[in-house]
Amino acid sequence: MQTTLILLKPDTVERGLIGQVISRLENKGLTLVGLKMMQLDDAIINEHYDFLADKPFFPSIQSYMKRTPVVAMAVRGKNAVTTVRSLTGATNPSEALPGSIRGDFGLTIDGNIIHASDSEETAKTELNRFFGGKDIFDYTKMIEEIL
Ligand code: GDP
Repeated sequence: MQTTLILLKPDTVERGLIGQVISRLENKGLTLVGLKMMQLDDAIINEHYDFLADKPFFPSIQSYMKRTPVVAMAVRGKNAVTTVRSLTGATNPSEALPGSIRGDFGLTIDGNIIHASDSEETAKTELNRFFGGKDIFDYTKMIEEIL
């Protein structure tokens, strides 16, 4: 089992799409093991997007990511990292395939709906960044006991 980190970005919160995006993850069979709303500050945004710090669009990421709170989620399942990245779709929603979260809900790269960890190693770092080892729950679904 893998656990990955997801952020529902400010456009998702503002447009009332939180439930629809979570449904995509649940419908796939992934298990939500952590869920919280967080107001990000400059320190955590700068750390999270450190690899983009020299890009001309970095200031717009900084202001965008703190426009509203975000929803941070820990999501568990077999191959959760690649599965969630597939559901997420390409970075630019105009290139993301219909059927993917960004392909169905996003329009511009400035507000591309969702962040999802891109590797198992990154997921560990990002889960620690946003959950700090707390509020991630290990539980068994009754259905898994029956099947
Ligand atoms: P991701 O893993 O698909 O989210 O893509 P990256 O790790 O390459 O980029 C991180 C985030 O930076 C993306 O999700 C976008 O929100 C943002 N970003 C990437 N490229 C651009 C760009 O060219 N312009 C703008 N405005 N934002 C970008």
